[in-house]
Amino acid sequence: MQMKEQVLIAGAGPVGMITGYYLAKHGVPVTVFDSLPETTTDHRASTVHPSTLEMLSELDMTDEMAAKGLISAVFQYRDRYDDRIVAEFDYGIISDETEFPYALQVEQHKVINIAREHAEKLSTFELKRPFEVVGLNQNENGVELSVQNPGGYIEIHNGRYLIACDGGRSIIRKNLNIDFPGFTWGERFVIATTKFDFGAPEAGNHRYRNYVAHPDQWCALIKVAGDDMKGLWRILLPASGKESDEYVKSIEWVQDKFSECLPYAPPYEIIHRNLYNVHQRVAETFHVGRTVLAGDSAHVNNPLGGMGMNGGIHDGLNIAEKLVRIWRKEGDDTLLAKYDRQRRTMAKKYVQAQSIQNKEILQENDMKARRQKLDALGAIADDENTCHEYLLKSSLIAMVREANSVQ
Ligand SMILES: Cc1cc2nc3c(=O)[nH]c(=O)nc-3n(C[C@H](O)[C@H](O)[C@H](O)COP(=O)(O)OP(=O)(O)OC[C@H]3O[C@@H](n4cnc5c(N)ncnc54)[C@H](O)[C@@H]3O)c2cc1C
Repeated sequence: MQMKEQVLIAGAGPVGMITGYYLAKHGVPVTVFDSLPETTTDHRASTVHPSTLEMLSELDMTDEMAAKGLISAVFQYRDRYDDRIVAEFDYGIISDETEFPYALQVEQHKVINIAREHAEKLSTFELKRPFEVVGLNQNENGVELSVQNPGGYIEIHNGRYLIACDGGRSIIRKNLNIDFPGFTWGERFVIATTKFDFGAPEAGNHRYRNYVAHPDQWCALIKVAGDDMKGLWRILLPASGKESDEYVKSIEWVQDKFSECLPYAPPYEIIHRNLYNVHQRVAETFHVGRTVLAGDSAHVNNPLGGMGMNGGIHDGLNIAEKLVRIWRKEGDDTLLAKYDRQRRTMAKKYVQAQSIQNKEILQENDMKARRQKLDALGAIADDENTCHEYLLKSSLIAMVREANSVQ
């Protein structure tokens, strides 16, 4: 095949859009395909960690993100069973390590749109939507993608490399027969959004990010700015029973669950709700031939700790930086295997391990064990050295540094 001198990206979620923007900004022609006509505003990622802010500041995105989001300098773990604040983590402790000693609460769709607006100003960037990737072929020269255009016809597009950013159900991962080992949690997660202000003193005086432990009524309360910047609270709740998806999505179920999990608050209006199955999986390889996986196509995890999108953006920018070097003839295809070595091990060591641990701490139902775990977390927060180490890990700064040191 006659190869076009470009990189192809499947998927214009946060990972595909930011990776495409980075490549185009550094002079590598890129075409991004997405099956949807526009970015959805469904309630998914909202926490952007210091490690990611450092990377996105190089792309001139962070000022706009801050203007559309909330600065979250602290987060808390609480124990509803014993009615206490277990631990408060203050990012100020790592201000010696990062110019961003805070997380930004900014919704995923805003991050995608900021990256898109920058990218679309570049002649090296093309976004094609709604164009659904339906198949691929690759050889030692490049990759050929089969893409269904809006008229329903299959078009063939080719390029030197392909980055699969097509999400957890990645057709590219499946097409390449890459295993996706791991497990699916027994319970589903409901995310319900309200304008009720959980930050008010009478409603618990919550921080912008709060993880609340309870043997069976654990939850997370996260504040985002909302499109009107007036503030919305997203509450993440487990649906552990055998109720149908339909019932769990109903307003009655959510109201009942709210009164169980958040009994101190009066009934309030729920303006949005969604249901997710939650998995912990890492692809057995992130690299086959001239194709690499990045983001949810490569690894998925539960949302406690806010690591999926962050880890995915780190993948995308890691491989993009390597492709720029290849483009400039400063490196060769062995960098693709290096990408796999750097990112796959770290996805397991940091994102999988920490997100599983976060969930286990919140839901522990052995009364002795839960107090021990929560007390240990409190002790970490109270000691400057252990708190420093904990924040480097949970903000994924430690992961990025360790990944970059892998040869
Ligand atoms: C409730 C919830 C809360 C979360 N909170 C956080 C958080 O605070 N912080 C965090 O870091 N992460 C969080 N996450 C995880 C985060 O949302 C995901 O990790 C992130 O969306 C992954 O981005 P992605 O670009 O890899 O994939 P996606 O966002 O899934 O994007 C994939 C894109 O590919 C497109 N696509 C799919 N198939 C095709 C195809 N065949 N052809 C063309 N296009 C295709 C889709 O339309 C989509 O636009 C949360 C997730 C959930 C469910």
